[in-house]
Amino acid sequence: MKEVFDYIDSHFDEYLEELFGFLRCTGISTQNIGVQEAAEHLANIMRSSGIENVAIYPTERHPVVFGEIITDPSLPTELIYGHYDVQPPEPYELWETPPFEPAIRDGRIYARGSSDDRGQLFAQIKGVEAYKRVKGKLPVNVKFIFEGEEEIGSVHLDQFVREHKELLKCNATLCSDGHMHESRTPIVRLGHKGMLTFTITLRGANRDTHSQRAGSLPNPIWRMANLLSTIRNGDDAVVMIDGFYDSVREPTEKEIEACMKVPFDEAGLEKSYGVKLLMNRKTSNYYYNLMFEPTCNVQGMYGGYTGEGSKTVLPNKAVAKFDVRLVPDMAPDEIIDKLRRHLDARGYHDAEIEVGEGYYPGRVPIDNPYVDVYVKAVSEGFGTQPYIYPGSGGCAPHSIFERNLGVPYVSIPLGYGDQNNHAPNENLGLDAFKKGIRTAAAVVEHFIEAGKAE
Ligand SMILES: [Zn+2]
Repeated sequence: MKEVFDYIDSHFDEYLEELFGFLRCTGISTQNIGVQEAAEHLANIMRSSGIENVAIYPTERHPVVFGEIITDPSLPTELIYGHYDVQPPEPYELWETPPFEPAIRDGRIYARGSSDDRGQLFAQIKGVEAYKRVKGKLPVNVKFIFEGEEEIGSVHLDQFVREHKELLKCNATLCSDGHMHESRTPIVRLGHKGMLTFTITLRGANRDTHSQRAGSLPNPIWRMANLLSTIRNGDDAVVMIDGFYDSVREPTEKEIEACMKVPFDEAGLEKSYGVKLLMNRKTSNYYYNLMFEPTCNVQGMYGGYTGEGSKTVLPNKAVAKFDVRLVPDMAPDEIIDKLRRHLDARGYHDAEIEVGEGYYPGRVPIDNPYVDVYVKAVSEGFGTQPYIYPGSGGCAPHSIFERNLGVPYVSIPLGYGDQNNHAPNENLGLDAFKKGIRTAAAVVEHFIEAGKAE
């Protein structure tokens, strides 16, 4: 790989210049600002990087950009996924330099999208390009799919992947998004949580009434407090919905071992948050719970009078909003069914459940042969052994690829812990950016080794 890495070093300034052009595009998906232009800019970068069949596919909202380098259809195929849309930059006044005018300070590139996710997907493109320029051709096929809706929940990605299975046919999917371990040790992330959101509403009398009737009329807020205490008791993180854990895929010994290698500073975390870490079903280990345990969280609740002073009112409605993070092999529908039965069994037949978004979790088994490929590539690209995260607390379009294409989905994030994504002064470390390009090239080199093992 030395030749390729030298080539990357000697072209690094050109990469920066090209990336800066991309970072000057807006492409704010939620506000419909400049997304088509950003897609076209990306497509041009791909074409000039030697990627073929580059095309912009419209969806009902923001387009998908696709391209490929097919060396020989009988060879294994790597699929690289990323997103070119960005979060709104507001509040502008907190940016040290304007969000769409990239600047380098203290070894970092500052701009909206520098880390999330343009700089990271760009590193993937440049790694593949560098390999091809140095070696003449790739030992595998590489396909690229970049969406423009990640920051609004990948609304049309599942449909797109389902409708383009042949186009996207591959052996494994790789994504660079998110951040490394806080120590700047690189990671290889094998799992992402699924998501389920819902709202529970309890109603009392047919109207708000004077609180003098509190001795006779029910108050739905008291009932909501009781209902909540049947779901979690507040002292630990265990979820008490009947059968909640039935489908949880328990981690294997190897997965637990990988998790335990991630340094866990309990006292430091407790100091940082100012609270004690909760005990969960098995342990209070922060990383174990982040990677392997599902969660049930109350996002917020409301009802009655919460303004200044007091108002002697007996409210007729209480609402609580929840998010549940799922681990394999839990399914969003399954949990809603279980919640309904749980509430009915406790007399809350009248509780109204309104279901919001729902998507599946995903986890690549740690002994999948592609895991070795990615670990090896990161070790070479970064010059250090990565931590393997068998799972993570966050969500990603993991299951869209895993379920529709039947292939593993792995993440190699390049951001630092303080990349400030979604916030002012978003940044990407120059060092991680360069090592990310190297890693992408090393993946191309080693990809075929997993193909042999399959
Ligand atoms: Zn993001």
